[in-house]
Amino acid sequence: MIEEMKDRSTDVLQILKTYFGYTEFREGQEEIIREILNGRDILAVMPTGAGKSICYQIPALKMRGITLVISPLISLMTDQVKALNEAGIHAAYINSSLTEGQIVKALLYAAQGKYKIIYVAPERLETARFLDFACHTEISMVTVDEAHCISQWGQDFRPSYLKILSFIRHLPVRPVVSAFTATATQRVKEDILELSHPYVISTGFDRKNLYFAVYAAKNKKDKIQSYLKEHDGESGIIYCATRKNVDELYLLLSGKGYSVGRYHAGMSPGARQENQEDFIYDRKKIMIATNAFGMGIDKSNVRFVLHYNMPQSMENYYQEAGRAGRDGESAECILYYSPQDVRVNQFLLDTKENMGDFTEEELQNIRIQDRQRLRKMTQYCTTKKCLRKYILNYFGEQTAEKCKACSNCSEEYEDTDVYPIAADILGCVKEAGQRYGINMIVGILAGVDTAKLRANRQKENKYYACQSTQTQELLKEVIYALVEEEVLSLTEDRYAVLKWTALAEKFLTERQTFFIARKKKTQKENTPAALRRKAGDSVLAPAEKEIF
Ligand code: ADP
Repeated sequence: MIEEMKDRSTDVLQILKTYFGYTEFREGQEEIIREILNGRDILAVMPTGAGKSICYQIPALKMRGITLVISPLISLMTDQVKALNEAGIHAAYINSSLTEGQIVKALLYAAQGKYKIIYVAPERLETARFLDFACHTEISMVTVDEAHCISQWGQDFRPSYLKILSFIRHLPVRPVVSAFTATATQRVKEDILELSHPYVISTGFDRKNLYFAVYAAKNKKDKIQSYLKEHDGESGIIYCATRKNVDELYLLLSGKGYSVGRYHAGMSPGARQENQEDFIYDRKKIMIATNAFGMGIDKSNVRFVLHYNMPQSMENYYQEAGRAGRDGESAECILYYSPQDVRVNQFLLDTKENMGDFTEEELQNIRIQDRQRLRKMTQYCTTKKCLRKYILNYFGEQTAEKCKACSNCSEEYEDTDVYPIAADILGCVKEAGQRYGINMIVGILAGVDTAKLRANRQKENKYYACQSTQTQELLKEVIYALVEEEVLSLTEDRYAVLKWTALAEKFLTERQTFFIARKKKTQKENTPAALRRKAGDSVLAPAEKEIF
């Protein structure tokens, strides 16, 4: 038995070397391959860039029949199939980009055993022709890529993913089912588990070679330009929330001579393809794009992923940022945040098309989830605690308090006691009847004189102008900290309202201090590149979607 296991592991290692050119497995890969080859179903949760594809491609080569890979995106299938065929592995895809004639031919070849791996779109599973093919061919494994699409609670719900289960039930012999995702939170994991009761493996979500930073930036264009100046010649992606932003930034940066391409859904397919290839083959160093760009892009030397705007969820952020440093070398993920980003994203979410034909109730649920995700994303931008810890905790992982490789850990902060401000904020929220959001409360405390404030008779609030000597920025920071400590909460409404929590009373009666971390004024941004320049050396050991 032990001998047999040894043989098998030498065997799969040999496949890794021969077909993929790698000498060793990464975390989790060998275990997943072993379990699949033992006939176990698998749910693997691994971060973007961890190397999920190999985990089903290698077993597919060793299994007798065909592996069907269910994948949500045509571009993703095309790239994977191209790479496999280049590596000498016979693979094909069947999706709406093929004519009926091509599909018939591909299925015929498949039935004759010409392919080991076939990529299909989930919608295809329901068609009579495909089902007939699958029932008369030996299907050894069904692999569900981007498995979080099965969950209504995930950010990328695809109703057609729900058909996978009934497809599998129709097959004469139940194949091994393996599901892969990078973005499963607990709720999503539970939904996927319903799929096949699999062996669950979650490799660490930490990408140690990535440096994370958030900078509250007023003039983002200047910030981006100075960043690019310091990273001359490096390859990177700049994500924007809207097509308009992509076009503006593209014009600005190309006008200044930067080697930039652009990508968004408003461009023709041909132009998108050309820009994508220019980037992948390093003819253009920098890609400016909406979230339409990136899925399935396997470019190893992306040294930075900058976010010109905050994305809509931590899931999106980690997936997009995760496209940096796939080669394991150090890379930077920097988000330039402004409160305006929250409003733009809220607008984009509110005007999102009902693509899945959901019922009103389902739509309502999705909206609530979207808002919660946006709120968590906003909190990432305002927290003063370790960013890596925030990310890992979000994905259900516990970790040390400080990572020393994010802007919050590497910048110097000083603890400032803001108890009197916090107490006034709580008082003001109560006095105003717990009916207003952050901006209104800040306005009252700062003593601004707006029509809205007058119309709501808040100049009569006894806390009006009582913190007028403080900046509005500080007042907001204290509110964010109170929300983070759960002394205040924000409602799930479209216009989130600040409310006291059960802890508020105790906060006022029992506490005398409330410390928040404030950036030291003279501090310069301490990115790895800045530190490298200072030390003349590397500080990080190489290591381990859209509207408008
Ligand atoms: P994911 O789907 O998890 O985002 P991919 O499967 O696209 O990741 O793999 C990311 C990159 O890592 C690819 O370039 C892939 O070839 C590479 N890779 C995968 N496994 C290994 C390995 N064992 N050693 C080195 N590189 C690997």
